[in-house]
Amino acid sequence: MDYSTSAADDLFVADLERRFTKGIAARADAADAAGALPEENWRDVVDSGYLRVFHPVEVGGLGLDGVTQARAMEALARACPSTFWSATMSALVCVKLIQTYGDPVEHRGLTDPLLSGERLACFPVVERTSGSDAGTYTTTVRRDGGRYLISGEKARITNATTADLAVVFSRLEGHESGWCYAFVDLRRPGVRTYAMPHLGLRAMPWGGLVFDDVEVDARDVVPVHLPEFPEGMAWGWLFISIAAIGIAESAFTAALDHARAQLAFGAPLGRMQAVQAALASMRAEIDAARLLAYRCSWHRTEGRLVQDLVGMLKPYATEMAVRTTERAVQVLGSWGLTPGHPVERLYRDAPMNVIGGFASNRLRELVATGLGLPAVYDDADRLAGTGLDLDPAGW
Ligand SMILES: Cc1cc2nc3c(=O)[nH]c(=O)nc-3n(C[C@H](O)[C@H](O)[C@H](O)COP(=O)(O)OP(=O)(O)OC[C@H]3O[C@@H](n4cnc5c(N)ncnc54)[C@H](O)[C@@H]3O)c2cc1C
Repeated sequence: MDYSTSAADDLFVADLERRFTKGIAARADAADAAGALPEENWRDVVDSGYLRVFHPVEVGGLGLDGVTQARAMEALARACPSTFWSATMSALVCVKLIQTYGDPVEHRGLTDPLLSGERLACFPVVERTSGSDAGTYTTTVRRDGGRYLISGEKARITNATTADLAVVFSRLEGHESGWCYAFVDLRRPGVRTYAMPHLGLRAMPWGGLVFDDVEVDARDVVPVHLPEFPEGMAWGWLFISIAAIGIAESAFTAALDHARAQLAFGAPLGRMQAVQAALASMRAEIDAARLLAYRCSWHRTEGRLVQDLVGMLKPYATEMAVRTTERAVQVLGSWGLTPGHPVERLYRDAPMNVIGGFASNRLRELVATGLGLPAVYDDADRLAGTGLDLDPAGW
């Protein structure tokens, strides 16, 4: 592994940090209070080049290495985790899915507007009845003469109310795989969306989509075999882990500043041994998660499957962020629980990442399977291996 970055890439990341700190970070508390992303955030994201960070030059990206991509992600995650989730779900996860499972040339018509910021995408997988258990999903694509129609409901979906395009994980009637990705134009008749309130990441659009016989072009229905499904999810696990690292770093910085500035018993609060221990543990755990994230991003960008590593990263990084924000609240006292203080917001944002994209316990099972322990499920209609068990020798 080579984690060194070029001077040009360092300048690019520094420029992102400067832009995002000045604009998006300054608006983060107001966006949280309003429960919506300001227009200016999207403009700043587009103008910065962030949407092109994840892709090779041939498909409209910047051709950056994995470590630079991870650093760029953290720059936005630190500024505003809600903006980060919304933009990265579209520009990273949805574009990768379309390019991987669709036709990289023919589907440029879908991916180019996502990379230029003219359009936004969402990735609806889970439904009202279940998240982890794909076996219960009912949304279905079926053939109707020369066309395809999709019907069903997806719930708890990032960008549900603002997206123009959905990469829907759906059942597919009449195909041996039984499943597909359907690239659904959300401006077509038969689509209804609704917003859902949420504890953290409040500015991130989140809600449900109802499809009532919505027409999907034949080339936009791509059969997928269930064991391949986690590969798309793995991009999500990586970005969600970096959301957690950004949240943890922001909470740590606020706690450290407070420990230096606040006087207690005639000395800075940070002279207390318990406060020092909390801050030292925060520092170590954030750096450990970041290093694993760089490792995942570097290998993935080099073209390797990293579902095993990302399966370990996501539970570790997201639960670390919950611990870190709790410790930050301890250091800050009641300021950390006061609406309007950034740490109060981060304390609500952190647990969203533990659940979002796959609950930790499911991932731990997949990691354990990769260690050679028996698989929890043998029913083929459930999420199977992640690649951990496909090539254990390659770890
Ligand atoms: C911020 C955020 C953004 C999201 N964005 C999207 C999105 O864009 N697209 C989308 O499709 N979904 C999205 N979701 C939904 C998310 O994917 C689901 O919440 C997640 O997959 C877990 O499903 P669930 O909430 O139904 O919990 P369940 O699957 O019902 O799990 C509940 C709990 O049961 C336990 N559990 C479940 N299964 C197992 C198991 N096999 N072994 C052990 N324990 C288990 C776990 O502790 C788990 O936390 C988002 C969620 C959040 C919080």
